[in-house]
Amino acid sequence: MRILVTGGAGFIGSHLCDRLLEEGHSVIALDNLITGSTDNIAHLAGRSDFKFLNHDVTEYIYIPGRIDFIFHLASPASPIDYLMYPIQTLKVGALGTHKALGLAKEKGAGLLLASTSEVYGDPLVHPQPESYWGNVNPVGPRGVYDEAKRYAEALVFAYHRTHDVDTRIARIFNTYGPRNRPDDGRVVPSFVCQAIKGEDLTVFGAGDQTRSFCFVSDTVKGLIALMESGYNEPVNIGNPSEMTVKEFAQEVIRLADSSSSLTYLDLPVDDPKVRKPDISTANRVLNWNPEVLLEDGLTETIEYFRKTVK
Ligand code: NAD
Ligand code: UDP
Repeated sequence: MRILVTGGAGFIGSHLCDRLLEEGHSVIALDNLITGSTDNIAHLAGRSDFKFLNHDVTEYIYIPGRIDFIFHLASPASPIDYLMYPIQTLKVGALGTHKALGLAKEKGAGLLLASTSEVYGDPLVHPQPESYWGNVNPVGPRGVYDEAKRYAEALVFAYHRTHDVDTRIARIFNTYGPRNRPDDGRVVPSFVCQAIKGEDLTVFGAGDQTRSFCFVSDTVKGLIALMESGYNEPVNIGNPSEMTVKEFAQEVIRLADSSSSLTYLDLPVDDPKVRKPDISTANRVLNWNPEVLLEDGLTETIEYFRKTVK
């Protein structure tokens, strides 16, 4: 297939491009580099089956020729990124998703929206199944991201129902791995870089909030399985092995063989207290399960940051 990946120079997007190319597809990565980097796709430069378009997805997209499928990943994704770019985040979720869907309709292409566990907000149901409608503060600082993704989901469904576009919605849970920007503020790159440098790990709050971390290769396999499935309802893609942030910090210190300690900082406003995906839909519909153990994925991530961070 000829596949467009918006956000293709980002963390997950660049791994997705790699995997799609390995599977024999031809790939166009579209990105305006607001939070991504061409470093992530530099190794693909010069390939005849890969093309990079430096473009803002909120502006009209012109791509000549056939497009069979669109992975719409473009969006700031880290809390510090979307707090720095609140309006761009709302625009990419709304206008960017609209442009991507318009292109899908025009080309007769399928489209997968990279949605997020943040649509569940600070969840009152645990673990979170797709049937849960969420607990989101629309006017809090995280609202710009959460509501943009919720609107994007609604728009995807409107195009599916109204124009019969063959759509998918992946609700991605915390994903980590090589090519996470070291300074993007997310807990995995932050803790790993701090541990490597021997600095204190910055635990927010008491560190008793939970997250469930999925290695990027598992997430990418889930996204491709969802593309291939023909299933139009939302699907959680994540690893259900849940731990507290404090336990996670200790695991990073152990695996990095670091002498770092923990320091406690204020918990950000509306930081979800718990998060764990119910992945029974992905099991049943996609026959997908995460395979990479945290210990193995983190070891690979630590090695990556040792090589790239000064
Ligand atoms: P990332 O910031 O590394 O990648 C996002 C990419 O989108 C960047 O390269 C950025 O430059 C690009 N982008 C942003 N706005 C754009 C615009 N207007 N036009 C063109 N490109 C634009 O983040 P990521 O972690 O790779 O996230 C990818 C997608 O997956 C996002 O949609 C995110 O919301 C979703 N997601 C990620 C996670 C996670 O844990 N990594 C969890 C849930 C959802
Ligand atoms: N966190 C932390 N220290 C950091 C960065 C994040 O304790 O330096 C916490 C954050 O408060 C949250 C969890 O780690 O509870 C995951 O944060 P991240 O920014 O990775 O993504 P989120 O899951 O909040 O979207």
